[in-house]
Amino acid sequence: PCFSFHVCKQCKQDKRDVSAANFSLHEAHCLRFLTLCPECDEPVAQKDIKDHQTEAHKQLNGLVRGRQSVPGLT
Ligand SMILES: [Zn+2]
Ligand SMILES: [Zn+2]
Repeated sequence: PCFSFHVCKQCKQDKRDVSAANFSLHEAHCLRFLTLCPECDEPVAQKDIKDHQTEAHKQLNGLVRGRQSVPGLT
């Protein structure tokens, strides 16, 4: 959220409210570096999208079946 007289626009890439004065810069940056994960619709750095999908959505790839209990974390 922005204050007072700023006109804010929401960046489509990361869904942040950005003041209009900064929006074009912000958007250019986001378009360049961020991408929306097609699985969870979260903004992820393009360079990290593979890691993100591997980590966050690995069950979709069949790499992990069933739950592993993690001792000490419960
Ligand atoms: Zn953005
Ligand atoms: Zn995702």
